[in-house]
Amino acid sequence: MVDLFSRYEMTIDGRPATAAHSFEVFNPATEEAFAQVPDASSAQLDEAIAAARRAFPAWSALPIEQRQKYVAMIGDVIEANAEDFKRLLTMEQGKARSGADWEIDGSVYWCRAIAEQSLPVHVLEDGPDHRVEVHREPLGVVGGITPWNFPLLLAVWKIAPALVAGNTIVIKPSPFTPLCTLKLGELCRALLPPGVFNVVCGGDDLGKWMTAHPGIAKIAFTGSTETGRSIMASAASNLKRLTLELGGNDPAIVMPDIEPKALARELCWAAFQNSAQFCVATKRLYIHDDVYDALAAEIVDYAQTIKMGDGSQQGTDLGPIQNRPQYEKVWALIDEARASGLRFLLGGERPEGPGYFVPLTIIDNPPDDAPVVTEEAFGPVLPLLRFTEVEDVIRRANSSHYGLAATIWSRDTERAHEIARRLETGTVWINETHVFSPTIPFGGHKQSGIGLENALEGLAEYTNSKTITVRKLPT
Ligand code: NAD
Repeated sequence: MVDLFSRYEMTIDGRPATAAHSFEVFNPATEEAFAQVPDASSAQLDEAIAAARRAFPAWSALPIEQRQKYVAMIGDVIEANAEDFKRLLTMEQGKARSGADWEIDGSVYWCRAIAEQSLPVHVLEDGPDHRVEVHREPLGVVGGITPWNFPLLLAVWKIAPALVAGNTIVIKPSPFTPLCTLKLGELCRALLPPGVFNVVCGGDDLGKWMTAHPGIAKIAFTGSTETGRSIMASAASNLKRLTLELGGNDPAIVMPDIEPKALARELCWAAFQNSAQFCVATKRLYIHDDVYDALAAEIVDYAQTIKMGDGSQQGTDLGPIQNRPQYEKVWALIDEARASGLRFLLGGERPEGPGYFVPLTIIDNPPDDAPVVTEEAFGPVLPLLRFTEVEDVIRRANSSHYGLAATIWSRDTERAHEIARRLETGTVWINETHVFSPTIPFGGHKQSGIGLENALEGLAEYTNSKTITVRKLPT
């Protein structure tokens, strides 16, 4: 039995590893430190990478069916400990029970679904004289680096395809939310051959060492665009493969033919799910002038029914911001909006008491160049923006260096589809939002990222393509 609530150690070469130094993990709802975790040295990272390299030949030589079975078993072990994982996730990340259910149950589902994927040899040509085939080969050691908003699910998005494709992995969770990932490493010690799945723990420097390390063949990263840029520069040293899932400033466009009351609920959740600490949260809500006032009123009404608080308490819908630096960043945006005289339809007042809480905050039609519009808040601050012309709203939606996802709400799906094709984002949802699946590729355009996660396209990113051509000789 593994106790998820005490003794947090890294997993290196299938064994527990502590470190000479450690740091604390805080519950963002109470601001109390409740766990101590190891702070890996660069020598320990070397050990983890060496172990992953030693494990690679045998792991990659296994028939894929066996690797798929192992990855499905990672799902089983998460499921067997789901209740504890959910509690631990709420303690370290802050999210409410419904969010923890979504993330932990989703992690189980993803492991099982990715475990059904494979990339068989693709035969391009097979004539009497000539054959051309494309094979997919694993890369070696993958370095996974994850953020603090969906710590376990985003780790699984990397671990599962990396292992199915035949790579071994060293994963580093965010120093703000390392606990679920450390415990997953511990649970997998008895499951996987040593060195296949290593978990190291530390701050941003550990991430930098990984991206510069010659023993790592690929970095799979989810986090901010700024960090993504430095990873790309650092990974150039040995031309590492990269998947970068970065920030977003997602627009949603509401056409005049919608029904305000019915839509308000969906729009609120599109914007505020996970307390808006969601790369694809609706962060700029463009509403047609004809329905702006009615819809704004309905959104404010519905938002007031959402209960924010300590995620471990029953009845809580949304938790706090996960950490102090992010909390200060979100308040700086709100303070700037107030100082510039913007009109608040809801929120904007600092609550009393402990915890990094930012109440749901809605701002009425700020100028396009206001920081609450141009910056990724990554917190529950939503600008409502009026538009009248479709051409104009497409231009405004595209006027961002981000290009992650967008949503269009309209009864005229054909028209919405035309608009979708002109938006510069990796995903566009029409009359639905946040549709993710292990079989749907996800990735950003522009500075929201490089490469894809999920689906066979995502799996292929953990491989090199190898072409073999054969001129058949007469017998
Ligand atoms: P972050 O970039 O600060 O940190 C992410 C991870 O990178 C952490 O583990 C951190 O320790 C590590 N890191 C920091 N500096 C590093 C460096 N120079 N080299 C290597 N590793 C380094 O991001 P965050 O604040 O944890 O997460 C929030 C950001 O993540 C937001 O911008 C959000 O939009 C983005 N995000 C994107 C997606 C997506 O799929 N596109 C999903 C979730 C979050």
